[in-house]
Amino acid sequence: MPKTQTARTETHPSHNPLYFINLHWYEETNRSFSVLLTTRLCATHREQQVATATKGKRKGEKTPLSTIKGCCSRKPEFFHPNMPIMEAIFRLLLSNENQPMTAEEISARLVELGLDNNWVRDGAAGVVRRLIEHDRVYGLSPAPESQPASGS
Ligand SMILES: [Zn+2]
Repeated sequence: MPKTQTARTETHPSHNPLYFINLHWYEETNRSFSVLLTTRLCATHREQQVATATKGKRKGEKTPLSTIKGCCSRKPEFFHPNMPIMEAIFRLLLSNENQPMTAEEISARLVELGLDNNWVRDGAAGVVRRLIEHDRVYGLSPAPESQPASGS
């Protein structure tokens, strides 16, 4: 049974795509990135964020990702071994200020963080890639390649 393989793989297979949290996706799907973000902040920054939000500031007003990188992601509760993979990937990108990462980099970091619950050991990058490509929750997607690629 020939399955119609939708050959819309525009990104070249030999090219290793970088993944990031696509903030436009949140706008397009009417989701709130800052809501998602708030629940990942440490207690201190969560309070600040809530306080800011209730002051009626613009919705886009949010805790910068550098705060997560510098503070919240360093708290012991930010990553824990039992969190779902997608959650871990999402948090990993947050802790990296949403700098695009390859599936290999992501899976390597997950191992470093001790989040490699079996799944990550074999073919981890492939698993990560597939999960991200199918994500409908976190807005993860391949990063556009229009960015000037410094280095190779
Ligand atoms: Zn914090």
